[in-house]
Amino acid sequence: MNKGLVYLFLMLFSVAGAQQNAYYQQNARYTMDIEVDAADFTYQGKQTVKYTNNSPDALRVVYFHLYWNAFRPGSMMDQRVQSQGKKGDSRLQKDGVSRLAQIPEDQTGFQNIHWIRQNGTDLKFEIQETIMKVYLNTPLAPNSSTEFTMEWDARIPMQIRRSGRNNREGVAMTMTQWYPKIAEYDYDGWAAFDYVGREFHAPFADFDVTIKIDKDYVVGAGGVLQNPLEVKGYDDNSNVKFDAGNKAVWHWKAKNILDFAWAADPDYSVEHFTILDGPKVYYVYQKSDKTQFWEASKPYIKNFFQLMNATFGRYSYPTYTYIQGGDGGMEYGMCSMILGEATTLEGLVGLMVHEGGHSWFQQMLATNESMRPWMDEGFTSYAEDFVMYRLFPPQQPWPNPYVNAIKGYVNFTKTGLEEPASWLGDHHDSGSAYTYASYVKGELYLVELGYIMGEPTLSKVMKEYFAAWNLKHPSDRDFLHIAQQVSGMDLKWFHHYWLNTTKTIDYAVKSVQYGKDSTVITLENKGGIPMPIDFSILTKDKKIISYQIPLNMTHTWKSADIYGDFTTLAYWPWTQKEYTFTIPYSRQQLLALGIDFSQRLADVNPQDNIVEVK
Ligand SMILES: [Zn+2]
Repeated sequence: MNKGLVYLFLMLFSVAGAQQNAYYQQNARYTMDIEVDAADFTYQGKQTVKYTNNSPDALRVVYFHLYWNAFRPGSMMDQRVQSQGKKGDSRLQKDGVSRLAQIPEDQTGFQNIHWIRQNGTDLKFEIQETIMKVYLNTPLAPNSSTEFTMEWDARIPMQIRRSGRNNREGVAMTMTQWYPKIAEYDYDGWAAFDYVGREFHAPFADFDVTIKIDKDYVVGAGGVLQNPLEVKGYDDNSNVKFDAGNKAVWHWKAKNILDFAWAADPDYSVEHFTILDGPKVYYVYQKSDKTQFWEASKPYIKNFFQLMNATFGRYSYPTYTYIQGGDGGMEYGMCSMILGEATTLEGLVGLMVHEGGHSWFQQMLATNESMRPWMDEGFTSYAEDFVMYRLFPPQQPWPNPYVNAIKGYVNFTKTGLEEPASWLGDHHDSGSAYTYASYVKGELYLVELGYIMGEPTLSKVMKEYFAAWNLKHPSDRDFLHIAQQVSGMDLKWFHHYWLNTTKTIDYAVKSVQYGKDSTVITLENKGGIPMPIDFSILTKDKKIISYQIPLNMTHTWKSADIYGDFTTLAYWPWTQKEYTFTIPYSRQQLLALGIDFSQRLADVNPQDNIVEVK
């Protein structure tokens, strides 16, 4: 073989190799025509989905989600609620009985598919409750597009979980998970998870949605309204247009979101305000004494967007809408559904901050929630505590925004109910195991990283993560990769211990021996997870002097943190249970000494971490 040919072969070989590992993401473009019968709580739907397969795999089938088929007695969601009993989600139960089992026949939900075609030709499909498997006539080749058209009708279920009619605050229609949505396909395969009540995943998509509904209704949605002058509520000068059947047409568009959601009610008011260098924010809610805090929340929500933009990356869409609806709080593309009746301003703002925070951790950084709920619920909870600590500063001095999350986690580890954070979101044994695995351990994953690498470095990691993965689908390995790149540390050990096990951190001050001019301290690792140790002393003249004992496994040591300067001592090998060192202070000079004055270390027995010097 001549040199030129060898070179050509090598080049082709390496290109093929690179393509196999290269990141890709699927894309969908929906055009929908929806006609609602408000009296009946039903609608007729037509949609075209232009679907692009950017994967290196030929697709022989595609899957669609039909979430509303879950809302009937005997569904998988009902079975799950019944088998979990009191351990499950209380919103799905009434007097200890599954609410799904009690839905009257005429209020069950469904999405009834009439037909689906690919480029005009009928396709065979099978429905397994909430999942529709569609067989393609010809495989969809890598890097090619196709067009699916379909018609269906649907009934809005009794409000049980997230979607539904007449929620408990009297919102007529919460339209979430409401249309046949194409499933995500990626390196993990099809994300065709049966809907039993938890999280979602989807490809990024553009939406062009036309909703025809009785003219008295006001619609709130995650998207940009195209005809505000022709509908009720959005413009004081509006001249509502309606047809002979007394129906108005609402035209919405949204680009590059995961899911289009909307809600409709005759009594909605619409308000908006603009964030400096940020989105136009809409509030769509029923104005009354019960929703009085919405008005007062506006300056806080302005601060929230600015804090999030500065800390985690810039919000990528033109609008964001808070809609009163649903059964608690749930995030969607460019909007969220939240209960509107709060007992305190802080309660309402907290809910808005959490659901709005998902715009970063779920929507823009679109992780697979079903497989890794700790990455969206956990990172969002971290951002929520970060923001709320600044919007509502604690009355008493708190060492950090995450002390309550740590306390909650520590208490939960004593119940014996904890399960690894890496489990699939739908498959935890109890609601509390899911909550602690995803919300709390996910949040503490970042808190512990802040402790290990120092807050300034973690802050760089979060910004770098956003810059690299905004409007993409990062996995946990992608985050870990960036955390290691930015910090220069090896963090695989922590990642594994924290997510794949329920081992815990437990360090102690074992002994203190006071000498004439110095003190000898022995620390002990009594727990299952090794960690680097921050150690401090408080002197009688009220100075804090700090030391870092690095863990050998990180290979690179923390260089700065926000709790003052520190001296780095010799490293602690993870195999070694005790660690002894000497500090140049005598008993007479000391008030207290101990592990982690910042209280970020999620030590399950913190009572033996600090010693008062008497
Ligand atoms: Zn959440």
